[in-house]
Amino acid sequence: MSDVVIVGAGPNGLMLACELALAGVRPVVLERLAEPGEQQRANGLVGQVVRALDRRGLYERVTGDPAPPHPQPSYVFGAMPLDLRAVPDNPLYTLPVPQRRLEQVLAERATELGVEVRRGHEVTGLAQNADAVRVTLAGGAEMTTRYLVGADGGHSAVRKLTGIGFPGVTTDRSVSRTAHVSVPAEMIDGRTGALVVPGYGTIPPFQHTRTDHGLIAWALFPGRPAMLSTTEWTGPETPGEPLTLAEMSASVTRVLGAGVPLSPPEGDGPHLLRRLTGGNTRLADRYRDGRVLLLGDAAHVHSAIGGPGLNLGLQDAINLGWKLAAQVRGWAPAGLLDSYETERRPAAERVILSTRAQAALIAPGDDVTALRALVAEFLAAPDNAGHVAALLAGADIRYDMGRPGGPPVGCWAEDRTLHTDSGPVRLAELTRAARPLLLDGTGALATVAKPWRDRVDVVGASMPGALLLRPDCFVAWAATSEHPDEGGLREALARWFGAPS
Ligand SMILES: Cc1cc2nc3c(=O)[nH]c(=O)nc-3n(C[C@H](O)[C@H](O)[C@H](O)COP(=O)(O)OP(=O)(O)OC[C@H]3O[C@@H](n4cnc5c(N)ncnc54)[C@H](O)[C@@H]3O)c2cc1C
Repeated sequence: MSDVVIVGAGPNGLMLACELALAGVRPVVLERLAEPGEQQRANGLVGQVVRALDRRGLYERVTGDPAPPHPQPSYVFGAMPLDLRAVPDNPLYTLPVPQRRLEQVLAERATELGVEVRRGHEVTGLAQNADAVRVTLAGGAEMTTRYLVGADGGHSAVRKLTGIGFPGVTTDRSVSRTAHVSVPAEMIDGRTGALVVPGYGTIPPFQHTRTDHGLIAWALFPGRPAMLSTTEWTGPETPGEPLTLAEMSASVTRVLGAGVPLSPPEGDGPHLLRRLTGGNTRLADRYRDGRVLLLGDAAHVHSAIGGPGLNLGLQDAINLGWKLAAQVRGWAPAGLLDSYETERRPAAERVILSTRAQAALIAPGDDVTALRALVAEFLAAPDNAGHVAALLAGADIRYDMGRPGGPPVGCWAEDRTLHTDSGPVRLAELTRAARPLLLDGTGALATVAKPWRDRVDVVGASMPGALLLRPDCFVAWAATSEHPDEGGLREALARWFGAPS
């Protein structure tokens, strides 16, 4: 019997596999596709997930550069520019990476950690009892596992087979078209990368521009073809046939009221030509049913506006990994596994709030235009821009970890350079093993944590007080004085990391 079976080798399933393996549990990943898919989806990551990947050494693997991530001076909200230069502690980090490349990096890491990914294995049935889950595969083979995680995307078979509801809305009111293209070189502003369209004006890169007739976005990526996309609310019925450059070009003309000559991009494909009609906003009514859990798009789907999907899903995986591993290894305190849903479902609700609010702000009509003018006035104030940036980044997430009145807990621990016995080191480098971590600036807490030393690392650092971090880098306990509350530390250790050994 396996300890954990993960259904789906998408980014979230692979991330969970890595987190479980780091925590000492080797899952089996079942993926129905025989080879990684050709479908092109995310172009990049936005938000806390960028720093979370840094804390596992994965940011460097993607960028090929040991430098830590830096916040973005600007972003967009509802196709309106968001100036973040004056925002203190700007939380908005980005990582431009095609989803297929990210999946490749995660798959390589999972293999290094000893995870078995079985391709060409489609899950078609499951049944569970108090001790195990029996999984049926296409072709009739069966296997059993102690826990099953459905990371099998928005149409999740696991969710449907478990009977977990997926309430929400499906709309058919918009048509989005996206294509890799070449445009005449004289239409690209060499300094800013903007697209300059005679008869319309300038379309800045990497943001949506709203017109009276829809949205347009233009992006130039180094070493990759330029990408153009439009969204329209009305227009000709789209045929069931694949999108062509001619259809793309007609859509651009309708949105801008001016034409852009489009030709196929140079270089090897596959090149993107994608039409999507409508969209879904849905949230699973439970993330867990007995021994079955849902992860990523299997648990939540929403508009891709602002690119929040992987920020949400990959952090679900980082939240679930250590908790499920603790359950499997037998030291999980009561309620730990259920805290996955109580912590992460509200995070999905925040993303849905953000994407629906942005959908309202990009809709057509004069009333929306007036609303946008007013919202732009609000966004000009750095405090408001910072509030929206925190929403987009998922940096406003606080988990309920109790302890009112004491130093803050339940929040993400900011990266910083720590001076330890082994020299200066970034916190993000100390967390790569994904183990609970006690940072002790008092020199007095190693004895208190000793009964948990099989699970919790203790690092002496020159800092005021002390911090206890969960493997997902959220603060479980904090002390600001040289004489910390040792009873409180014991309580937090037991609450999150189980009974002392
Ligand atoms: C057009 C578009 C653009 C996007 N852009 C961005 C962006 O810029 N930034 C961002 O963060 N997010 C973006 N997203 C969202 C992002 O792509 C998803 O959130 C992400 O793919 C979800 O990952 P996942 O692992 O949960 O599911 P998936 O990526 O859907 O992976 C699920 C896997 O499960 C497998 N599977 C399914 N059923 C079974 C079964 N029965 N048995 C075995 N295997 C099965 C599938 O083959 C697949 O490999 C975009 C999405 C779209 C559609």
